[in-house]
Amino acid sequence: MIKKMKAAVITAPFQVEIRELPVPEPGPGEVLVRQHAVALCTLEQRIFTGIKKFPAPGCWGHEVSGVIEKIGPDCQTDLQVGDHVALGAPTFCGECVYCSRGLEEHCVRKGSFRKIEDVVGLFGMAEYAIVESKRAFKTANDLPFAQTALTEPLACVLQGIKKIGLKLGETVVVIGAGTMGMLNVLAAKSCGARVIVSELDEARRKKALAMGADAVIDPGSQDVESSIRELNGGRKADAVIIAIGNKHANADAIKMVDICGRVLYFASAHPSEPLDVDPNFIHDTGVVLTGVKGKNLRDMWDAAALISGGVISTAELIEEIYPLEKAKEALEKASSSTNFRIVLSM
Ligand SMILES: [Zn+2]
Ligand SMILES: [Zn+2]
Repeated sequence: MIKKMKAAVITAPFQVEIRELPVPEPGPGEVLVRQHAVALCTLEQRIFTGIKKFPAPGCWGHEVSGVIEKIGPDCQTDLQVGDHVALGAPTFCGECVYCSRGLEEHCVRKGSFRKIEDVVGLFGMAEYAIVESKRAFKTANDLPFAQTALTEPLACVLQGIKKIGLKLGETVVVIGAGTMGMLNVLAAKSCGARVIVSELDEARRKKALAMGADAVIDPGSQDVESSIRELNGGRKADAVIIAIGNKHANADAIKMVDICGRVLYFASAHPSEPLDVDPNFIHDTGVVLTGVKGKNLRDMWDAAALISGGVISTAELIEEIYPLEKAKEALEKASSSTNFRIVLSM
């Protein structure tokens, strides 16, 4: 008899059905994962609200954690049945020029979505999923699944932190203190940087301080440039991470970055507006502008290691946990203005 699993399926904007689907069989090089938690990222919210047109019916979710249930044939892996793992690595071919350079998130052959019966997708919001073994990353087995589900977003953050090369004792500003902003704060702190958070919302500023930010500023009422100078011995910041995509954040970042500093466009902007930057500002200051849109395998490995080793705790970034059966309510909640991640457990 074919084993069945529950899956939350988005059939149309704002419509979610809990369906019974057959548990898939892992093929060569693949593992079957009994998934236990999926965190709802902006991608799932945009598919749910119809902002992003993805195929329907679809089962989505890419910030996932679970347990290895079965290892497929011809699998060259160190993973064993019972190992806890985090999922969310990009699909990649391993052959193209970007894969060869370790930039799997830029792979030119990303592959297609999986399909079970008429449902397509990544199947993060389901009890089981199959994944290539090299895209599953071992995590500590004594951590709650909701916490290890945040391995993927932390991996994106680590890629950005590596790109701007934060060093011991540097001062970094993080603009925006939502889930991704706070993951940036935690990662920057673990590099030995001093972290200042720029955030409009007072409750979020308080939370940022409680979670380890060294100082906060309110860009709505304070002059950001003089505030940073005041907090940083007269100098501006060595790096600025934009964790909320809008033109005010972009403008503030340019005002807050010091000579030879780095600006990271971490968040994507919707809508996006052209940057208003004088090329002579770049010429004169040597400021570097860069961005990040995802994570590679190394970032996933590093994120799993940092969470599993207790260096970075994602515990406080989980706002609420819903059972899989309440996926619709969870997606509605995630799409409203929450501070941190809404997680489904299954
Ligand atoms: Zn994500
Ligand atoms: Zn490739």
